[in-house]
Amino acid sequence: MVQYVLKRVDIAGRIAFEPPADSGAQEAIKRELRKCRDKHHDYVLLTLQPPKRPRTTGAFSQNHHLNGHIMQICNETSNSYDAIKYCVKYALAISGGVCEVCGRPLRDGQPQGAHRIGNTIANRAKYGDFVIDHRFNIGMTCSLKCNAELDISGDTGKVIKLCCKIYAAESKKYGVEK
Ligand SMILES: [Zn+2]
Repeated sequence: MVQYVLKRVDIAGRIAFEPPADSGAQEAIKRELRKCRDKHHDYVLLTLQPPKRPRTTGAFSQNHHLNGHIMQICNETSNSYDAIKYCVKYALAISGGVCEVCGRPLRDGQPQGAHRIGNTIANRAKYGDFVIDHRFNIGMTCSLKCNAELDISGDTGKVIKLCCKIYAAESKKYGVEK
């Protein structure tokens, strides 16, 4: 499932929308439409509703820029705006503004939050939303290439270590005794 806010265009006798500017978003939409074509004879479940706009402080503010990325991650992962905002702000705060993989300043690239344990249905079933959506499971990277390199899904040792770190931090929060 993908969810995007699209601009409507008038084409007589058709319900039409402009594709999103972001090439990643375009690809995600194409992928869904291909699935609909191959498995559902081109029938698509379409929900129409007014866009929920995130709070922002001006079109060119840093907040506005950040909100763009947050909305993108919400769209990709179907998480709430607040949950992702918290993760992204945390990841940005500890990244020091540089890519965690290559060290390049984030503003020079296309900054993106990346999951360490990949955000897949299989991983969610295995580790739970609690781990996948946790702030420790998200790092800041400068590009799609570095984003992919942050993925530790295939390294069981690293995955277990990260899960331990997440559970240790959360146990403190909930006052769980050792
Ligand atoms: Zn990088």
